[in-house]
Amino acid sequence: MNEIIDHDKITSQIQAFLDKPHGHFIDGQWIDGKSGKPIDVISPATGNIVSSIQSGDGDDVDKAVAAARRAFDSGVWSKVLPVERARIMFKLADLIEFHASQISQLEALDIGVSRHMMETIGVKLSANQLRYYAGWVTKINGETITNSRPRPEGREFLTYTEKEPVGVVGQIIPWNFPFAMAVQKIAPALAAGCTIVMKPAEDAPLSTLYLADLIAQTGLPSGVFNLVNGYGRKAGAAIAAHEGVDKVSFTGSTDVGKEIIRSATGNLKRTTLELGGKSPVILLKDADLDEAIPAVARAIFFLSGQNCMAGSRLLVHGDIYDRVLEGLVTLAKSMTIGADMTGTYDIGPLISEKQLTRVLAYIDIGISEGARLITGGKRVEKLPGFFVEPTIFADCNSGMRIVKEEIFGPVLTVQKFNSDDLDDIAALANDNIFGLSASVWTADLAQGHKLARKIKSGQVGINIHAAIDPATPFGGYKQSGWGREFGREGLEPYLETKAITAYL
Ligand code: NAP
Ligand code: MG
Repeated sequence: MNEIIDHDKITSQIQAFLDKPHGHFIDGQWIDGKSGKPIDVISPATGNIVSSIQSGDGDDVDKAVAAARRAFDSGVWSKVLPVERARIMFKLADLIEFHASQISQLEALDIGVSRHMMETIGVKLSANQLRYYAGWVTKINGETITNSRPRPEGREFLTYTEKEPVGVVGQIIPWNFPFAMAVQKIAPALAAGCTIVMKPAEDAPLSTLYLADLIAQTGLPSGVFNLVNGYGRKAGAAIAAHEGVDKVSFTGSTDVGKEIIRSATGNLKRTTLELGGKSPVILLKDADLDEAIPAVARAIFFLSGQNCMAGSRLLVHGDIYDRVLEGLVTLAKSMTIGADMTGTYDIGPLISEKQLTRVLAYIDIGISEGARLITGGKRVEKLPGFFVEPTIFADCNSGMRIVKEEIFGPVLTVQKFNSDDLDDIAALANDNIFGLSASVWTADLAQGHKLARKIKSGQVGINIHAAIDPATPFGGYKQSGWGREFGREGLEPYLETKAITAYL
């Protein structure tokens, strides 16, 4: 394994951004919070403090919700011509692309992701997410309903539906791919005409703060987008419980998702949840291994496994089991580990010391459960940040905690199956509380489609893992969440349906 660390190549513009005070963005302005207490922003590649944000509390959330409510009720956003809403969203998409370098530097610094990958994939995906939803703004329609109510002779009914924005929405995002998370949350909300109070994760707020600066340049009316920094248990919990918030959209862990539901009961706010995963990657015996083995490695090791769709449970037919293990070990050993502003590495750091400790604890659990560690398993001591080697456990079974629980690190578990019966294979794949993503690898597409139908998961790839696209609905079965993001289905949770009936 090679190690690279070269984290100092940021521009003076980005250094100035890091040095500026970061309060909360409320009603179109950066303001200091009531408590004003700082939270250090740490680079996971070095463990160094690179910036600071304020720790927001209930008072700050109150202010942000009040601004969002005023903006919503005034109609400055929900009632403008749909083409104008779309125009501002297109403008933000263009601005994001124009600032690709700045956004990518911040994301690389804050989460250790490859700057090159951000510039070429992450930023573009986010801009296109906005463009996709900007396209919906002019196509949000109700329908006319054929009504069978009894009616007096000579009278008729006209029944139709109209779509209205839900109102003020709270959006809480995680740290693992924060810029894309922030944009994918605001895009459908803005398209629907809602106003927003967002809370980024305190572990990785920087690119979302930069997004707020870009939003301020688009002409979006003040109060439509607001941002409160701070800890989840304070600022996040205040948003989830706030009576003035009509809907909350949360991406994060399943445990916190359950807390969000409990908090949301006060005013029965609408709730969508994108939660954890333990996604199976299934290799049938006729899979093209030249394609599948590198794809399996990407599916688990992208973002060091800190990815809700990570293909963390590999299920392999016995006929190809040894070849697959050998191929994966060779690949894992050749990976470059580090964090480099030029982006020439395969495995970056984990987000924090806490996450590092958690992942190493799971590796110990795997060893004590009797799983066979075939590569990795250790912290990279030579590097200053929070790095763990790409790790693979073979000979796992569904009863093991490392197979059941989401580790959110570069740890792959491998299970062998010998049956060719699709029901047996699906049962193995479905033997988990999560159901976010899955993939099936086979040369027989009919078999692939049949197995896809049997898998309880919001997304199934056939000879591809995690085929994300703005138009394709994304979300979880079972404890991976409620509702969908992306696509038309991702817009619906931001709309209410009103049915209107008149005698004619
Ligand atoms: P997390 O601990 O659940 O935190 C997510 C966000 O919620 C953060 O902004 C956090 O704030 C906030 N939060 C924490 N406690 C809260 C509370 N009591 N009330 C309201 N907000 C609260 O998750 P994470 O560790 O950041 O992210 C990893 C998890 O996210 C994984 O389980 C992963 O699978 C999931 N995820 C899912 C998807 C998906 O689309 N399905 C995508 C990415 C990640 P602070 O951290 O700032 O305190
Ligand atoms: Mg950070």
